[in-house]
Amino acid sequence: MRRFFFQREQRQGNIVTLSRSESRHICRVLRLGEGQSVELVDGSGVVYSAVISEAGEPVRLAVQEGHLQPQSAGTELLVGVGAIKVKKIELLLQKCTELGVTGFYPFVGSRSQGNLIRQYGGKDERWRRIIEEACKQSLRPRSMDLYEMVSFAELIALPEVQRSAARLLFWEKERDTSLAAWQVEPMPGNTVMLLFGPEGGFTEQEVTDAVRAGWRTVGLGKRILRAETAVIAAVSIVQHHLGNM
Ligand code: SAM
Repeated sequence: MRRFFFQREQRQGNIVTLSRSESRHICRVLRLGEGQSVELVDGSGVVYSAVISEAGEPVRLAVQEGHLQPQSAGTELLVGVGAIKVKKIELLLQKCTELGVTGFYPFVGSRSQGNLIRQYGGKDERWRRIIEEACKQSLRPRSMDLYEMVSFAELIALPEVQRSAARLLFWEKERDTSLAAWQVEPMPGNTVMLLFGPEGGFTEQEVTDAVRAGWRTVGLGKRILRAETAVIAAVSIVQHHLGNM
């Protein structure tokens, strides 16, 4: 069944009015018409069945019923990434959503470039759409939470971060503990958090502070990967270990 996203403010009573781009996609590309059934999601985890009541631009749908998809019984995965180029962050928002990451935390590291951080301003709407599209693509009813940018020190002090059952900081200088050797059992109801540096990497001081705060450093082998490659590789491996793939 085709699935479409809507914002809560697009719903009035049991009628949902879709955005122009979704409407165009339904009418011109998919050629769906009145009376046809689709699914609707709003990122909250509820999947609604709905019937197209007006197939114009915009498309209107009558919501019939909603089913709350049970929260994953598995281990949730959070990812923190030092500010990198906007295009690369956007790639990661898409890939992390598809790979089932629950929370994404951009942070400003000591080696993050100031001009990049300024470029993040005003991107909320665009980034929300990227995450929505990736939810649609991967049939994911619950959206990935994207958090406000914070400093590295603020990030590792966040209560939800400190509560994570396992916290792994990816460090190219870590030679003794590789992710491949990480023995992980799925921890239902718990979270695992992975942290990646910006292009310039973490400073020794940041690594020391993180280790003091309970983080464990892990490596991904001898090759130095671009931050986005490291994120996608590590998230895939960890999700596989956690039974989330
Ligand atoms: N500036 C650093 C250098 O040239 O030595 C490299 C930083 S790397 C481009 C960006 C981030 O990707 C790192 O901070 C780390 O989190 C992750 N990363 C890249 N290669 C890695 C590896 N082999 N093991 C663990 N993490 C890695």
